[in-house]
Order: sequence, then structure tokens, then C-alpha cells
Amino acid sequence: MEKKVSKIGVLTSGGDAPGMNAAIRAVVRTGIYYGLEVYGIVRGYAGMIENDIFQMESRSVANIIQRGGTILKTARCKDFLEPEGRKRAYENLKKLGIEGLVIIGGDGSFKGAQIFSNEFDIPCVGLPCTIDKDIAGTDFTIGFDTAVNTAVQAIDKIRDTADAHDRLFIIEVMGRDSGYIALHSGIATGAENIMIPELKTDIYEIINTLQEKEKRKKLVNLLVVAEGSELGGANEVAKVLKSKMTHADIKVCILGHIQRGGAPSCMDRVLASRMGYAAVESLLTGTNINTMIGLVNNQLNYTPLDQAVKAERTIDFEWLKVVKILAS
Ligand code: ADP
Repeated sequence: MEKKVSKIGVLTSGGDAPGMNAAIRAVVRTGIYYGLEVYGIVRGYAGMIENDIFQMESRSVANIIQRGGTILKTARCKDFLEPEGRKRAYENLKKLGIEGLVIIGGDGSFKGAQIFSNEFDIPCVGLPCTIDKDIAGTDFTIGFDTAVNTAVQAIDKIRDTADAHDRLFIIEVMGRDSGYIALHSGIATGAENIMIPELKTDIYEIINTLQEKEKRKKLVNLLVVAEGSELGGANEVAKVLKSKMTHADIKVCILGHIQRGGAPSCMDRVLASRMGYAAVESLLTGTNINTMIGLVNNQLNYTPLDQAVKAERTIDFEWLKVVKILAS
């Protein structure tokens, strides 16, 4: 096989997600297996511009598949938005002879990669890594499964204390534009209702349902709210509920950044490993370059970087019905 590249770089960029390390490991080990030199770029595009780049060995990625975070660090980099910044980045890659890049990140990072690969002769392959699961061209993103399981474990614990005191808990999970964590964790924990950015929820209908449940002496209720729900986060929702249900014992719990950390789940490790392997194969053979590798119907799927954007808001109303019926 004719190798299209002999030196490649790997970086993690933008928002972090559990499983980034597993993806780095797969890229490094696959690259070395095929006789490539693999370079780690520190803090995403910032390290490319600042020449913070080092050669990685097989041992560099030992004992990381099970670790959250990213050994390469991640960052947001304003200078990469400017042509001068990208030119400096290119010159640094050129000096080292790096001929291809694997970008592990979200849609913003892919936008940067698309512009960079158009401007310079550096093919890029993206791996979708975000806890939000809202990227077009893939059924799953690296990090979602871990994050949602973290939320489920936390909400189960909240249910214990809610049950002990007959309380109504409003639990805020991550998701400024995306309701997948709220939807999945809400269903998996038997939440009474969920509120997500994709769908309008009638807060007064929720209040009516809760009041009706109160009459039936069903006092333990969980409301899972995505931080970007139409009404805002859990504190905003609590304000409205408290004003209408003056005698209810209402508490708020914001799960926050714990959802971004922790050991990646089996599913995220496998996903990252498959995608990392496929990314190196693409660069090596020159096929499917300048794409994002996704998984659709459990098959690898290649989406041009310019289409690897935030997915349309596609959560169906039927899901809310399922939540309500199952929690009645
Ligand atoms: P994510 O990859 O998690 O969506 P961001 O949207 O913050 O995170 O993007 C990560 C980085 O990608 C940005 O800090 C910037 O360096 C780069 N980037 C994003 N959009 C562009 C763009 N339009 N042009 C060049 N670089 C971009």
C-alpha cells in the first residue's frame, strides 16, 4: 500500500469530553502500527500556533484508555480564527514534516479544520467528541454515553433523598443547545418530566400535573431540566414552580461539570477506539480525508467537514409523551 502520509499530528480541541484519551491512544497506536510518526499537539490549535508539539511513542498513551480528560489538554484558540494564526500553525507543522491531522473535538473544531485544510495542503480527519451528542452525521459522539451515565447515577442518588423527604427536585443537567442528556437521563431515572431546548414545554401543564399528583399523595417528583431549556436552567424553573406551588418542598440540584469527567464508559472507549483507528486509515490511504468520522447504524460514516455541524434539533414530541406516560 502506498502511504499518503508518514507523519501525522493529533490534537484535542474545544469542549472536553470523556473518551478523548481513548481516541488519542487509538490514533497513536494505529499510526505507529503502520510505521508513521505521530505527534501530539498540546492545547488544540493553540499548541499548533505556539509550536507545542512532541513526538509520541506507544508508551506515551499507556494507561490512559480508562482516564477522563485529555493528556494533550484542550483549549479554545482565538488566534486560529485569524489567517495569520493559521499560517503560523501551518509553518510549524511544515517544519516538523507533519502531513495530516486528526482533530478530536466538536463542530467548532471541525469548522477550524475545514478552513485550515482548504487553505493549506494538510488533510484533516475529525472525530466527534462532545457530551451533547448533537453533531450531524453520527448517531453517537464520544463522551455522551459516559456523561449521561454520570447524570443517571447522580439522579438516582437524588431520588433517594427526595423520597426520604417527599420532595420535588429540579435537576439541571448539561445541554445549552441540546436536550439529549436530559432526555436519556430523565427516561432512565423515571423523571416526571423533562425540559429541553429542542421542544416547547408548557410549564403550566407541568404544574397542573404536579398538583394533581400532590392530590394523589405522590409527593416525590423529579424534573430534569437541560441548562438551555426554553425557560432557562433549574433555578429559573424553580422560581416559577415555587410561585405557584407555595407549600411544596422544592429543591434544586445542578449537576454541572461532574458530567464532563470520570472514566469513560465501555461504549465511549470502543467508539473512540474504532474512530481513532479509522481516522489513521483515512489519512494513510488518502480516502475520506477532510471528513468527520461518525457512526450511523453501527457502521462508520464519513461526513465532509463542512457538513459536520451542530445537528438539526430533531427530538420528537413523542419522547415527552413517553416520559409522561411512564412516570404517571
Ligand atoms: P468545539 O470544538 O467543542 O465545538 P469551539 O466551538 O470552541 O469548540 O471550537 C474550538 C476551536 O476551533 C476554537 O477555539 C477555534 O480555535 C477553532 N474554530 C472554531 N470555529 C472556527 C472558525 N470559524 N475558523 C477557524 N477556527 C475555528
